[in-house]
Amino acid sequence: MDFELSEELVAVRDLAREFAEKEIAPTAAKDDRERNFRKDLLLKMGELGFFGTVIPEEYGGNGLGFLALALITEEVARAHSALRVAINMQIGPALALLKFGDEEQKKKWIPPLVRGESVGCFAITEPDAGSDVAAIRTTAMRKGDNYLINGTKLWISNAPVADGGLVYAYTDKSQKHRGLSAFYANFDRLGITRRALETLGAHASPIGELTFENFALSAENLLGKEGDGFKVCMWQLNQTRLNCAAGAVGLARAAREAAVNYCNQREQFGQKIGQYQMNQDLIAQMIVHEEAARLLVHRAAWLADQNRLNNLEVSIAKYTAAEAAAYAADAALRILGAYGYSTEFPVERYYRDAKSYQIVEGSSNIQKIIIAQDALGYRKANR
Ligand SMILES: Cc1cc2nc3c(=O)[nH]c(=O)nc-3n(C[C@H](O)[C@H](O)[C@H](O)COP(=O)(O)OP(=O)(O)OC[C@H]3O[C@@H](n4cnc5c(N)ncnc54)[C@H](O)[C@@H]3O)c2cc1C
Repeated sequence: MDFELSEELVAVRDLAREFAEKEIAPTAAKDDRERNFRKDLLLKMGELGFFGTVIPEEYGGNGLGFLALALITEEVARAHSALRVAINMQIGPALALLKFGDEEQKKKWIPPLVRGESVGCFAITEPDAGSDVAAIRTTAMRKGDNYLINGTKLWISNAPVADGGLVYAYTDKSQKHRGLSAFYANFDRLGITRRALETLGAHASPIGELTFENFALSAENLLGKEGDGFKVCMWQLNQTRLNCAAGAVGLARAAREAAVNYCNQREQFGQKIGQYQMNQDLIAQMIVHEEAARLLVHRAAWLADQNRLNNLEVSIAKYTAAEAAAYAADAALRILGAYGYSTEFPVERYYRDAKSYQIVEGSSNIQKIIIAQDALGYRKANR
């Protein structure tokens, strides 16, 4: 067993850290406040190859792997968690296309996603279907050579700005989840309306609703076969879930760093507040959760790089990392007191952004169900 990163991975991490500190961090507060979607940063990240580590060279990637992606994402999220969402919106569709698309679909749609030119998204959730993906109501009815998509997708990251994305819809509702299909579509055609929504955090990551009304797609847009949608969706979520966990580690780290810095500066009752054991308890717990989460993320990413199944390890990593981020943001806010609660300092942003990790890409409850059911022998996670 070797816990050292290779020289190549250290270089990737350092490049991402430098980029995040110089290009993302200085405007993070402003971007959050003004709800800026930074297409310019997306293009720069694309140019640096951040979206291409899990994509082979023939489709515009660099093939550095999932561990490289996790290292990059941790650095980006440490600077601004909302920007790590942007990474998943590019790699989620690109990976689904790579795994399930035909040659024409891969050549056409993956390279613009990897370059950050085409802003991506994936549209699963609906007003009445969150954790229960099979409960979606959007349909894709065959009409001649076309599929007509009808339905509403809710809480879709990048919905207000996406150039295209993955859309999940029923081609045959009678088949239950086996009747679900996955489509990739550019949104530059009639039949789609967007509505921006506001949420607690991740303000620089636009979110919203997509309504499809007779949105016409052809067989060219179908990924795999009719009925493959549930398989595509679960596979795609396993990849983006892992990277979401890497982002949560970055946010936990940012919160812990802010808390440690403040403990070493602030004095009360004649000494630095870091001297108080109650604050030391919070710092120790932050470190323990963060380090455990990072190791679990790296293990799951390493398994992906070995082409091995990692669904169980991804769920363990995602659960641990999401809870670590929420714990660290809460602890940092306690330590900074009024300065933590103030909108003039970044900790309140960490606090708002951290909550999303317990909800997205399968909630913490859903991860616990996967982990427990595997342990109890009810349903093997790695199948
Ligand atoms: C910031 C943000 C970005 C998002 N981006 C996207 C996106 O890009 N694309 C997309 O498709 N969706 C997106 N979503 C939606 C997200 O995937 C869903 O919110 C998530 O799947 C949970 O669904 P829900 O919110 O409807 O909660 P529900 O599924 O209604 O769950 C409500 C509560 O019940 C719990 N629960 C549900 N089922 C069970 C169960 N069987 N056992 C125990 N507890 C259970 C949940 O853990 C949760 O605590 C986003 C959401 C947010 C907040």
